[in-house]
Amino acid sequence: MSRNWFTAIIGRLFWLLLACLIIGLALGQPAWALVVGLGIYLLHTLWQTRRLQHWLRTRPGEPPPEARGLWGSIFDDIYRLQRRDQRARGRLQAVIERIQTSTAALRDGVVMLDREGHLEWWNHSAEQLLGLRAPNDSGQHVHNLLRDPRFVEYFDKADYREPLNIPSPLSISTWLQYNITRYGNGERLILVRDVTRLHNLEQMRKDFVANVSHELRTPLTVLVGYLETMLDSEEGSNSRWLRPLNQMQQQASRMQSLLNDLLMLSRLETSDTRAEEKPVRIDLLLPDIRKDALALSGERQHEISLECHTSVALRGLETELRSAISNLVYNAVKYTQDGGQIQISWSQDEQGARLSVTDNGPGISPEHLSRLTERFYRVDSSRNSTTGGTGLGLAIVKHVLMRHQGELQISSTPGKGSTFTCVFPAARLLTES
Ligand code: ADP
Repeated sequence: MSRNWFTAIIGRLFWLLLACLIIGLALGQPAWALVVGLGIYLLHTLWQTRRLQHWLRTRPGEPPPEARGLWGSIFDDIYRLQRRDQRARGRLQAVIERIQTSTAALRDGVVMLDREGHLEWWNHSAEQLLGLRAPNDSGQHVHNLLRDPRFVEYFDKADYREPLNIPSPLSISTWLQYNITRYGNGERLILVRDVTRLHNLEQMRKDFVANVSHELRTPLTVLVGYLETMLDSEEGSNSRWLRPLNQMQQQASRMQSLLNDLLMLSRLETSDTRAEEKPVRIDLLLPDIRKDALALSGERQHEISLECHTSVALRGLETELRSAISNLVYNAVKYTQDGGQIQISWSQDEQGARLSVTDNGPGISPEHLSRLTERFYRVDSSRNSTTGGTGLGLAIVKHVLMRHQGELQISSTPGKGSTFTCVFPAARLLTES
């Protein structure tokens, strides 16, 4: 195309100059004739450029001004490009409108944010769930509109693998679940869902377990008390009832530990004890736990060693941390063969602090590892009934660690032993000063 234009321009100029030259020669003024010819050509070009500019400025998209020859094809080419562009824009607009109408019809709230966290667009459900108002809130930073500290922390932390459940800013009886996704060039999309029904069901479940466990405690204490009295009495210890009484007492104390563990789990799930957190010196807790573990081992003669490589304090709740660590150490004692070796180690590195309990017991097959922290999950239920386990120990450990922003890592080789490691983040550690 540009080559055609170029030859057309050169051709026109050539014929114009030739004509001027012939007329100039005939008039005896060839130089002036050439100057006049070039002047006319320049004026014509300026006039057409002016028409082009006028058309593009005042009537873009409308048919171009009439022109012949080279300028006519320039106008037509530009007009064709404009039409093509308009059609593409129309198609894109239709797609955007379709997406917006379908998103607007969603029951979940959708809020689009720019890179800095300013609101760009949201749907009707977001208005109802979060109380956003168009156009006033458009361009506002999300922190100005959703001020709950839990949301602000979640938003700024930028770890969106897990959703956030908190009450709605409009009513505390409505529970909302926030899911944030990053897209494009650092923009964020917030999906908001009303989870009040699920939240209430979950709350009912927690209350039910807590209430039942609590209510069962008193009758069970009475039963255990009478059983003890009967076993201590002369008739009980000599009669044919001795075996059944012993078994009843054994099972009753299992039920008591089960209820205690269930209550502990309910407390961990429901109470917010952040205000009661204090610096806890784990290195000072461990000797006591080791002593209790040696007592639990008794005649089974386990070797329990303790290594403390740091005296750093951990911000948290001493009772919960003690219970989590004890659970791991007691498990090692319960599941490791008599005379087995158990190592407890407490250390610190750049990432945080680690407490590990290693044993040379029977180990656990890989297929069980991911499910060990589920409630009542047991690798081998027959082994479990002899050890008196409740199946809730590792669930308690996991919950305690979650409340301390830690995590439980488990590695095990069947036949060789297991290592349970509690990893605490550096943010939880307090320097001695
Ligand atoms: P339990 O009260 O039954 O011990 P836990 O939740 O503490 O329940 O443990 C779950 C299961 O994990 C146990 O039933 C046991 O099979 C297995 N387990 C836990 N600790 C160890 C260990 N140190 N060595 C081998 N198996 C273990």
